[in-house]
Formats: sequence, structure tokens, C-alpha cells
Amino acid sequence: MLAVQIKPDEEILPLISSKRIFVFECLGCRDVHYPVQRAGEFIDGLKQQVLGKATLDYLCHREFVQEYIRAYADQLEKAEVVLVLSCGVGVQVVCSLLEDRTVYTGCDTLHLNGFQGLTAKEYDCEQCGECYLNYTGGMCPVALCSKHLLNGPCGGSQQGKCEVDPDMPCVWQQIVDRLIKLGRGDVLERLGAPKNWNVSPAP
Ligand code: SF4
Ligand code: SF4
Repeated sequence: MLAVQIKPDEEILPLISSKRIFVFECLGCRDVHYPVQRAGEFIDGLKQQVLGKATLDYLCHREFVQEYIRAYADQLEKAEVVLVLSCGVGVQVVCSLLEDRTVYTGCDTLHLNGFQGLTAKEYDCEQCGECYLNYTGGMCPVALCSKHLLNGPCGGSQQGKCEVDPDMPCVWQQIVDRLIKLGRGDVLERLGAPKNWNVSPAP
């Protein structure tokens, strides 16, 4: 099972302050743990910055999200950034569907013991407790890099493939390509702090 919590203000607000925002909020896991009240207060605090909001169940369902993106196309077009309040899988689905947009997550996803419900097979979240997707163009290095590197790439990638498993794409190559395409190459100069594995299941 997983639990979702809103990131600390000091982590998320500098990324979105003064920006026009469109919000996706997922309530699919509220019966496990999604902080509905705290999320509502956070969104209210953004006031006029929020141009629109789509609230749905199962942001991890790609076709479903595609329909919402079509329905909210006008508001999305006017927004400078897209903010997603969901687990890491939902954020990755939105990023993959809005490839040319800057998408941020406002949440961390934590692991809880117990039965894991079904999520989209093509996206993975290790529920690591400290979500890095805001610095990786929406692709997860914890789940998808063979070495779980937070400051990649490792230098061993060959023609876009991982040196540990040449059948896998190197996710760090994909991260670099996407951030440069978005004009956010400066993010790559940021040195991520050591990960607190105490809040994460063992990789
Ligand atoms: S960084 Fe990856 S594993 Fe950690 S919460 Fe985000 S999507 Fe999940
Ligand atoms: S080649 Fe890429 S995916 Fe593989 S370990 Fe290195 S950085 Fe990670």
C-alpha cells in the first residue's frame, strides 16, 4: 500500500511561486491515505495562481487522464506549470502525456505494508518517501536507474542504453534529454542531497 503526503512548503513553493498553475488532483487512494484536507488548504493558499483544477480518481490510468487533458485543454494552454497532487505513478503519467510542459509534483509517496493495488504497468514508483520527479523531468531515477542514482548519469550509458542491462534504456539519458528539451537544463547542475533511505523500502 502507499500513502501520499503534501511536500513541505519550502520545497514546492519556490518552484511554482508567481506562476499560472493548472492542478491535477487524484483521489483514487484516499481510502488508504491521501490528505484531502491538507491538499485543499494547499491549493486554496495558491489563490489566483490556480487557473483550473481537475480532480479525478486514478490518475495512474493513462487513457482516462488523456480524456481530462482534452477536456481542460484551454486552461492547460494558459498555465505556465502543471502541478500534480498524487502518488509518483500519477505524476509520471501526466508528465508522459504533457511532454512539452513543465510538470511538478506537490507530493511525496511513502510505502505502507499491505496489499498493493493495481497501477499502470508502464510506470513505476518505489514509494521512496522523497519524490525527485521535480528535478528529473518526471522520470523516476529511484525505480528506473539500475544504480538508483539521484545525481546521474553514471557515465556508462552506451547509445542510450543502461550499462548494467543493455536491454533497458538509460533513464538518466532520458532525463537529460527531456530537461534540455524543456529549456530546464540548469536543473542538471543541482546536486541532490544524499537520500534518506530510512523513509524508503530497501531498493
Ligand atoms: S522519486 Fe520515484 S520512487 Fe520516489 S516517490 Fe517519486 S516516483 Fe516514487
Ligand atoms: S547507465 Fe543510466 S540507467 Fe544505467 S546505471 Fe548508469 S545512469 Fe543508471
